[in-house]
Amino acid sequence: MSDPGKSSIPFISLITLFPALLLGTIFGIPHLIGEGSAEDLITLSGIGVTVTVTDLLFVIGLLLSASIMAVVYYVLVSKYKVAVLADSKTEELLKSRDFFLRLFDDSPVPYLMVAKDGEIVLPNKASQRLFQMTAEELMQYKFHELHDDAYFAQSRTIYDKFVRGVASSDVEFEVVRKDGVRRWVRLSALPYRKQGGKGKGGTISLLDITEQKAIDKVKTEFVSLASHQLRTPLSAMKWYGEMVLQGKEPLSEKQRRYVQKIYKGNQRMIELVDLLLSASRLEMGSFHIEITSFDPILIVKDIFEEVTKSIKDKRLHIIENYEGDHTNFFSDKKLVHMILQNLITNAVKYTNDDGTVRVSLTFSPDDLHVEVEDNGLGIPPEQQDKIFSKMFRADNARLKVADGNGLGLYIIKEAVESLGGEVGFTSELNRGTIFTVTIPNATEGSGTKSN
Ligand code: ADP
Repeated sequence: MSDPGKSSIPFISLITLFPALLLGTIFGIPHLIGEGSAEDLITLSGIGVTVTVTDLLFVIGLLLSASIMAVVYYVLVSKYKVAVLADSKTEELLKSRDFFLRLFDDSPVPYLMVAKDGEIVLPNKASQRLFQMTAEELMQYKFHELHDDAYFAQSRTIYDKFVRGVASSDVEFEVVRKDGVRRWVRLSALPYRKQGGKGKGGTISLLDITEQKAIDKVKTEFVSLASHQLRTPLSAMKWYGEMVLQGKEPLSEKQRRYVQKIYKGNQRMIELVDLLLSASRLEMGSFHIEITSFDPILIVKDIFEEVTKSIKDKRLHIIENYEGDHTNFFSDKKLVHMILQNLITNAVKYTNDDGTVRVSLTFSPDDLHVEVEDNGLGIPPEQQDKIFSKMFRADNARLKVADGNGLGLYIIKEAVESLGGEVGFTSELNRGTIFTVTIPNATEGSGTKSN
């Protein structure tokens, strides 16, 4: 770097000689031309030297100049060093800024840098490709305006969270390109937060998952088709099994045991196929939602009836708690049954002998709040984020309870979401789990729809 500061140091230092020259001139000239008076004589008794006042002043002037020069020199050199350091730091910062900007711009993941009101201020190249728009065109939008109309509610929720400085992750929905083509994206919004305050802008990542969605759709359709095809022969087997077990043909004890095993195995396959069918219908959005009025308490009673044997075998203590007006609840009965059944059977399944299962339903004009609590296995903290994934079973559940397929919670989540509700849980390992579900009370006459 150029150093104008450094080159001026000797010059400025020289200027500081000025006081010495001035004092020297004023008091030194009379001395030089021999006009110093005798009264001017001073004896420095400590060292036994006699000097004139003029000499003394000249020396003091010189010392003063030297001190000023030293101070000024020190200040200038320090300033110069600070300037050099600042320059090199600025250079480093510029380099890393360039590096990150290049990384941001060339990343294969579409990123948008947005202001605190969601306005797009810097779209990277991948995002321009995703939307088939130039940076300038994208900068006309706020990030939550790029969705397909059908996803208005999701986008709004993400936006509301964003402006409050709350992150959203892995929300899937469709966006519309400039040419009208729709693409599936998985959006994560990461607001930068002012300390203790609201968001002040942030980064939005939009993974294009259109191909993955298409493959998922084919897989779901295949599962749905296969389950349909399996349902008929399995039902026939069940029917013949029942005939053999109840029939008049005598069976030996051994034969009866074998047929019973076949019958139970068949029953489990039917349950699994039914779960697969429900999951694929919910995924494909082809589940026909029918809003009617019904009493969820009666559903809970029926479910407890179905699992009486397990409750008795494990000597479980059941607590039921119902609050609010249960006579005016509207929703899809099949889905609510599915949700309550999976929650209650899980609580019974994952609670140890002599444990407690508590079911509480609280009705309000707006919604039904369900809590299903047990004091059983609990869910390991490191696996809690995967618990609603399809076919996922936690390690402790696999070890202790062989019977399970990991579809129940996935179905609960899909069913709750298709009713516009929410599901959550808290769990402590070896202490127990509480699942909470909120289902909106659909208004009377809202009719039928597909999710
Ligand atoms: P399944 O019970 O058939 O394995 P689910 O989808 O119903 O499948 O549950 C997924 C996993 O979540 C279970 O395997 C278990 O690890 C965990 N889980 C669900 N409910 C409970 C519960 N009440 N207590 C402990 N773990 C549970």
